[in-house]
Amino acid sequence: MSQPFQDKSFQTKAIRSNNQFTQEQEHSAAIFLTSSFQFDSAEQAANRFEKKELGNVYSRFTNPTVDAFQKKLATLEGAELCQATASGMSAIFATIMTLLKPGDHMVASLDMFGTTIVLLNSIIRKFEIKVTFADLSNTKAWEYSIQENTKLFLLETPSNPLGEVADLKALSAISKKNNIILAVDNCIMTPALQQPLLLGADLVIHSATKYLDGQGRCLAGAVLGNRELIEEISSFTRSTGPTLSAFNAWIILKGLETLGLRMQAHCENAKKLASWLCKQSFVKKVYYLGLENHPHHHIAKKQQSNFGGIVSFEIVGGKSEAFRLINNTKMLSITANLGDTKTTITHPATTTHARLSIEEKKLSNIKENLIRISVGLENIEDIIDDLKL
Ligand SMILES: *Cc1c(COP(=O)(O)O)cnc(C)c1O
Repeated sequence: MSQPFQDKSFQTKAIRSNNQFTQEQEHSAAIFLTSSFQFDSAEQAANRFEKKELGNVYSRFTNPTVDAFQKKLATLEGAELCQATASGMSAIFATIMTLLKPGDHMVASLDMFGTTIVLLNSIIRKFEIKVTFADLSNTKAWEYSIQENTKLFLLETPSNPLGEVADLKALSAISKKNNIILAVDNCIMTPALQQPLLLGADLVIHSATKYLDGQGRCLAGAVLGNRELIEEISSFTRSTGPTLSAFNAWIILKGLETLGLRMQAHCENAKKLASWLCKQSFVKKVYYLGLENHPHHHIAKKQQSNFGGIVSFEIVGGKSEAFRLINNTKMLSITANLGDTKTTITHPATTTHARLSIEEKKLSNIKENLIRISVGLENIEDIIDDLKL
């Protein structure tokens, strides 16, 4: 079926594109909670299994609700195809296991989601895949890390919690020249604010658990790119099983409809909070990409349409002052989760980055007085009130 809304704006596509309906003429997406599908005849079953006839077979690899989510997200990222997964981690794992074999090498950014670092340093090494870490924003460091057997560049931009940014166009030129696949975890920006495929990336990875759902309800992930790459990843997930449940796909499908509006509101609140923090005497330093004094503000401005909802700051003092401020809040949620309508506050050094060694924390600039806020959608005055000491 042709998609009549492809040329519309982001928010219209998020609501109107790729909607699939049954004969019941439901206005909102139906949910298909079925493990398998039945066939009219043995011949049809055979044809479906051999992929000679399009249609559903079994929900580990096709399900209409999951398909609706995949198609809508693919439209929003400008991707040919999308493979949904059970979580962001399974999307990252499926990508690496599909693209690399023992003896291969990959380069990953230093400042990545904590569990991604743990995955790369433990399970991935068991498969004798070599990993080099490079400074996200130092394009030359990526180029110098390339070896004969380098197959993959994996990074997250902007990084969390400090908002370091990679120059995606420059990295894409280097990866293309060297036949390396460039995969970008776009969880922090979402396609509402940044579309890495349009900047030259080969794959986009998502933890849909965060902003895509946006309401903290369930886990999900996705990998997006061209047909050839995604079909390879789909055969990995089909055979190993970390695919998305129809129920979670249905929840996030609804989340996508408000993604553009929510991201704008997250950005507006984050910008106001960052400006307020800059003026407080208990604050030593504020990290928000939207502030002109952030070292990566200008590159962010080139490849993102806004600066996102994550604001971090160093408090005057150390860990005990940071803990005191966190414990002093009444409304904010003390949790490491992000991308929720609820504002969350966390102390990275003892939570999200607790598993890093002292040297690794130093290298990543995660100090004991650092506090991260995932700015939610409550009224900004109430968020600010809760942070007053
Ligand atoms: C949360 C997160 C992940 C992991 O996603 P899950 O859905 O929790 O498995 C990966 N990358 C980034 C940037 C994240 O924030």
